[in-house]
Amino acid sequence: MQDITALDAMRAWSRAEQGRGARVAFVPTMGFLHEGHLRLVDRARELADRVVLSIFVNPLQFGPSEDFERYPRDLPRDRALAHGRGVDVLFLPERAAMYPVEPVVRVAPGAAGDVLEGAARPGHFAGVLTVVLKLFTIVQPDVAVFGRKDFQQATLVRRMTADFNLPVTIDVAPTVRELDGLALSSRNAYLAPDERRAALALSRCLRAVEQAWRGGEASAAALARRGLDVLRQPGVSPEYVALVDERLQPLERVTAASVVVVAARVGKTRLIDNVVLGDGVARDVAVRA
Ligand code: AMP
Repeated sequence: MQDITALDAMRAWSRAEQGRGARVAFVPTMGFLHEGHLRLVDRARELADRVVLSIFVNPLQFGPSEDFERYPRDLPRDRALAHGRGVDVLFLPERAAMYPVEPVVRVAPGAAGDVLEGAARPGHFAGVLTVVLKLFTIVQPDVAVFGRKDFQQATLVRRMTADFNLPVTIDVAPTVRELDGLALSSRNAYLAPDERRAALALSRCLRAVEQAWRGGEASAAALARRGLDVLRQPGVSPEYVALVDERLQPLERVTAASVVVVAARVGKTRLIDNVVLGDGVARDVAVRA
């Protein structure tokens, strides 16, 4: 595995590999790697001959009162994990190279970027899509792998890729959870032991909605109320429970393809999770953390 920092060196590497007939897969991350990220690497290896994993904590997608400064970072550990999983290039662009000046032109995500996470975090998805587009332009991958854990992000990235005719195939891999149901997230590192227990309310909420749906309830409003009942636990401040279609549109009646999305604060930590009703939480990947 090699580290690449310079943007032009990254592009030259991909071009050289592709010139030899190799397909390049790309896994963008903000680092502090966990098994969720590493499963994306596994998937990337299935889809291509070479794998690039980037680590870049993108200031553009953090609001002024969010956790950019304290976002967890551990490059030596990330390097060992990426190497152990067969990453070929660890791409570590520097902030000054990515944003020599504050970018003026940004990708506008459209209405789907203003709901749910976008409503709670104004400008977040413009920041995400702008950095993803920049990274695609630099890495020039044949395929890029994202996690379903960030459902709205994956949906918007697919949308941008289609709307801009980007020559990249987008693959979305299942959510990886701990055995008790908590979705893996770099932000779980913020949780104190009592908060870690309280955080289970999110996956319990998804399961409760799924169960109610399997029991015959098809009203989105009734299912959201059921989810909210389960989410309201001591130490948990619910932000939303919603049922949307695969394009993030709100629904009145749900189907097996509908998605339950949930966001809540546990202490100071904001967590999100989701499940496709017809798949269910049990179909996600469970690992011992
Ligand atoms: P992040 O480092 O949080 O920006 O995430 C980088 C990528 O990993 C994104 O595509 C996320 O959706 C994905 N990811 C994060 N957590 C998980 C998880 N628990 N399961 C699957 N993918 C994940």
